Amino acid sequence: MALKSRRNKPEVREIVQAGHPVLRSQADLVATSRIGTKELNDLIDDMVATMRDAPGVGLAAPQIGLPLQLVVIEDRAAEPEDLDERNRKSVPLTVLINPKIETFGAQDVEFFEGCLSVKGYFAVTPRHERARVTALNEKGDEIVLDWDGWPARILQHECDHLAGKLYVDHMDTHTFSRVEYLIDNDES
Ligand code: ZN
Repeated sequence: MALKSRRNKPEVREIVQAGHPVLRSQADLVATSRIGTKELNDLIDDMVATMRDAPGVGLAAPQIGLPLQLVVIEDRAAEPEDLDERNRKSVPLTVLINPKIETFGAQDVEFFEGCLSVKGYFAVTPRHERARVTALNEKGDEIVLDWDGWPARILQHECDHLAGKLYVDHMDTHTFSRVEYLIDNDES
C-alpha cells in the first residue's frame, strides 16, 4: 500500500535582524518555473506561519534570510477601534511574487511604523498615501493591487525589503523609540 505523501506542518522561521546583510541586498526574482511547486508553496506557508506567529502584518523573504522577491501580507484589523485615523483596514492574506510598485502623491503621510527585523523599535515614517503593485500570486496569476491608507504603507514597507531598504532609511530619526514607550503598533 502506497503511503500518502504527507505535508509537513509549516515551520516558523527565524526572523533576521538589522545588520544581517540579506536585509541590505537587492532580492532576486523568483523563477516563474518555481511558482506552484511544492517547494515554493511550502516556503510561502512557512512565511505565513512566521508572520502570524510574530505577529506581524507583512513579511518579506529577506526577513527569513532568503534574497527572494516574495512577500506575504495579512492584516486582521477587523475591530472598529483599529479602523483609526491611520486608515487601517483588514487585508486578506495576499502573496506577492516579483512585485513592482508605483507610488502616488507626496511622501508625507506620517505615522509610527515598525519592522519585525528592527524588533522592539518604532519611528514616525513618512509614506505615500497610495501605492499600486503589480505582481504574480502563488498560482502565477498577475494581480494588481491599488491600495491607499495603511495597506499602502504595508506595500511600501514590504517592497522596500526587496530592494534592501528598511523603514529606518525614511524615518524621522528624532521619533525612533522603544516599543515600551508606545502603544498599539504593528510590526511588519
Ligand atoms: Zn519590515
